[in-house]
Amino acid sequence: MTTAEINQIQALLSIPKQIIIVPHKNPDGDAMGSTLALYHYLKANNHNALVMSPNDYPDFLKWLPGDDTVLKYDSETERCNTLLQDADLIFTLDFNALHRVGHMGDMIAKSEAIKLMIDHHQQPDDYATYVFSDVTMSSTCEMVYRFIEMLGDDSKITADIATCLYTGIMTDTGSFRFPSTTSKTHYIIGKLIEVGANNAQIHNNIYDTNSYEKLQLLGCALSNLKVIPELRTAYITLSQDELNQFDFKKGDTEGFVNYGLSLNNIIFAAIFIEHRQDNIIKISLRSKGNFSVNEFSRQYFEGGGHTNAAGGKSDLSLNETIEKFISILPNHKNELTS
Ligand code: 5GP
Ligand code: MN
Repeated sequence: MTTAEINQIQALLSIPKQIIIVPHKNPDGDAMGSTLALYHYLKANNHNALVMSPNDYPDFLKWLPGDDTVLKYDSETERCNTLLQDADLIFTLDFNALHRVGHMGDMIAKSEAIKLMIDHHQQPDDYATYVFSDVTMSSTCEMVYRFIEMLGDDSKITADIATCLYTGIMTDTGSFRFPSTTSKTHYIIGKLIEVGANNAQIHNNIYDTNSYEKLQLLGCALSNLKVIPELRTAYITLSQDELNQFDFKKGDTEGFVNYGLSLNNIIFAAIFIEHRQDNIIKISLRSKGNFSVNEFSRQYFEGGGHTNAAGGKSDLSLNETIEKFISILPNHKNELTS
């Protein structure tokens, strides 16, 4: 962001405003952490702010400070539409294109509010007046910290803001292990702990609150794991019947894809999950090194994301989707084995 843009945003935020903050559909730790952190910051600066999520999110995020104030667009559509129409500012966080919020995207596009994007995904669309986009950032939460810092307000970061930001940095960096984790990321984490983020408690709330059924589902996923060693690829499938058998709840499969990537010599991992209700196969892709799952997902599975983490979907059956995946892999033999 330029200094001129920062000055303009400072001027905008110097007078109380109606502000809506929006994460992407099926929000994860970074999406909810960043939106709720910004919510606490804006409330403390006398704005009438609200987080409006396109839909619900997993229970393991439902302890975040401010969680009880979040509106869900799919269950309160009329009220949300009015609020979007009346908003002065709309912040869109942790996504790069309005289709990532589903139907809510049309209302955001129509709203006359000034739009501000804070995001770290590749190839951002051009819908916002102010764009703070940086694909090198570990997380949108790290960017919200830097955004508050750019506004000269880092001394105003409270324990609630710190807790939300810590959560998203932790989840998007795989607990500070992905290459996007820099010394500045650790510096920020240190600051967040200093002002009251309880790191051990946050790790516990996110990672040590599994249900028995979720662990059984993980067992099923791992027994379905297939490896294609000559292409350094591993993939997992989960059918709707398997999800039902283990009483699947939103968020239960979060992180499963990483098990494929934990195999020695594997640099590309995928998970294919059947969503019979929507008639789609939801796909998560992960890689190590230069192989871009963002490009792969854009090319074959109507998705996108980052170089090493992306998502997409398929309208084919689960079996047909796997056949398609296996048939296109050899096109990338050079990238996968070089
Ligand atoms: P996940 O596999 O955890 O759902 O998503 C991995 C990354 O890709 C996240 O940053 C997520 O926001 C992004 N992503 C997931 N699904 C999609 C999709 O359908 N389209 C795009 N453009 N990005 C996605
Ligand atoms: Mn993110």
